[in-house]
Amino acid sequence: MTTLETTNHNANRSLSFLNKKLGISYREKVTTISIWAPSAENVIWRIYDKGTAGRLVIETKLNRDNDGFWEASIQKDLHGFYYTIQVKNHGKWLDEIPDIYAYSTGVNGHRGVIFDPLKTNPPEWEKDTFISLESYTDAVIYEMNIRDFTKHPDSGVEHQGLFLGLTEEATHNSYGESTALSHLEDLGISHAHLLPVSDYCKLDERTPNEGYNWGYDPLNFNTLEGSYATTPYDGLKRVTEFKQLVSTLHKKDIGVVLDVVYNHTGLIEGNYFDQTEPGYFFRHKEDGSLSNASGCGNEFASEKHMARKYLIDSLKYWCEEYHIDGFRFDLMGIYDLETMNIIATTLREINPSILLYGEGWTADTSVLEESKRAVKKNTTLLNQIACFSDDFRDTVKGSQFSDTSIGFISGMRGQEEDLKKAIVGGLSHPQIDPEYLKDKGYLWANNPTQVVNYFSCHDDYTIYDKLKITLPLEEDNMIINRIKLAMAINMLSQGIPFFHSGVELLRTKKGVRNSYNSPDFINQIVWSRKKGHVASLSKYVEHLIQLRKEVNSFRLQREDEIIQRLHFVEDYKQGVVSFILNHKELIPGFGNKILVAFNNNNEIIEQEVPHASWARFDLLKYEVAPHVIPSNKISLSPVSANIFILL
Ligand code: CA
Repeated sequence: MTTLETTNHNANRSLSFLNKKLGISYREKVTTISIWAPSAENVIWRIYDKGTAGRLVIETKLNRDNDGFWEASIQKDLHGFYYTIQVKNHGKWLDEIPDIYAYSTGVNGHRGVIFDPLKTNPPEWEKDTFISLESYTDAVIYEMNIRDFTKHPDSGVEHQGLFLGLTEEATHNSYGESTALSHLEDLGISHAHLLPVSDYCKLDERTPNEGYNWGYDPLNFNTLEGSYATTPYDGLKRVTEFKQLVSTLHKKDIGVVLDVVYNHTGLIEGNYFDQTEPGYFFRHKEDGSLSNASGCGNEFASEKHMARKYLIDSLKYWCEEYHIDGFRFDLMGIYDLETMNIIATTLREINPSILLYGEGWTADTSVLEESKRAVKKNTTLLNQIACFSDDFRDTVKGSQFSDTSIGFISGMRGQEEDLKKAIVGGLSHPQIDPEYLKDKGYLWANNPTQVVNYFSCHDDYTIYDKLKITLPLEEDNMIINRIKLAMAINMLSQGIPFFHSGVELLRTKKGVRNSYNSPDFINQIVWSRKKGHVASLSKYVEHLIQLRKEVNSFRLQREDEIIQRLHFVEDYKQGVVSFILNHKELIPGFGNKILVAFNNNNEIIEQEVPHASWARFDLLKYEVAPHVIPSNKISLSPVSANIFILL
């Protein structure tokens, strides 16, 4: 403890070194390494000709300065060479590791690789840039996994399960339906949110097909996962191939969001932070044991100077080197508010459109008091960082924590006020019953730009599996109607919509609830499913996204705008919530107003609405129905989202 307190004292004395560049700095004639290890007694830097085995080429000691930084330079062109560092601490040599900043590694992440980043750039990379957004509510986020997305034999993709799989154009399945990248283009999403692509440790990169992992077991945070590259042995390939992926998506006007997992390490014993400056990077309980808010064994101490610096440096690196458009923070409730706000300010200087959102909770208790952490109830203290709305999720499909729990789409009764709150982005609205708000409607965000609306994600059952479990007697055609209703609520509510890859393809994980290490046949997107009624469901989702894009009233940016423009229909019918949006100005093809009515009843419902010539909008055909007669009644199909336009 003494060492750490001294360190903190020193850090406070002179914060200027927070700008210091750590890790490898490559230049053609000289490469420098700089690491921070104030309690180290000795540090050795070794250069190898390969990422595993091979020959030791150079070995040198690092020199320490007064602030605990260790540095050395080698006068030689080291592009393509591999390296390790080894720290001696309290008389003991720790493990040989890449430094914690390693920008790429050899197979399985044991040695770093030194490289000239310019030599990893695909053609025209210098022209590649971020996706720009006018409002964060313009985003439509699609959560996907690199391997799952193209692994299936009917994906029509050559590089199945790899970064390059997502760069292949005009692919289709054996029924001629678009797959992979072409499928994303058809859907019209704005951002592909990728499950962890940074290096993780519990899949052997030498034999990736003998295992599977989502990747929430991080090893090298600035390095890409080797099993997604065409070879894990050449540390440069993964860099180039991922840049090709980013560049391809950007050319299709799709941004790339990374799911980042700095909150804990995949290895508890032997993690690379502890092999550098033991104990510093994690929170501890009073008895000295590790605090474990991640539920995985440790939790990152984001509030400490050098841990905070590590986070900021790493995120900046992903933005600057890979042109990443956003980050999803796994267990964001572990990080301290101050660090998150510095991250937001720093990254917006690089890219004002950057999307930042996370899970506003932890998996277990933290030693850092809740008032200081980025949990959902502190969202209003965050500088335009959004949180996942678990209220929205539970309202739409039922509680995550009970298999039998049902939600609005599965026919839940008496949930109209919950759904109204979901529709207005979890914010306040004068037409939401104050008694309901008093009981369970707590307000946690300032504006819809801070609310990520979702009903399913990689965690837990797919929506199809959840519905099959809660409604076991229902046929697929009825399940599809419920999924359509869920997607309509998702796309036509205020906030930032997010959906799980495969919702639109009736994805099943065969009832597996937590598939983090299940084989491909559980996790992969089965592209041969995309035909007939499933292709039609996908088309429906595509049209919902198109409607959201064309009608900006679904993408309001402030709470007061929502209160001003969104009015719920007063006529009460059980299982029905309807609202009218008044557009700011006439929208070509969509008139002055749009009426949306969600019905979870199994029968047709007649609802009274303000007297007008409401024309039904057929979402599947994407056209307005002819023959409109002025009326004060609309007819709502069983289990459906109904859209009417006032032309
Ligand atoms: Ca790995």
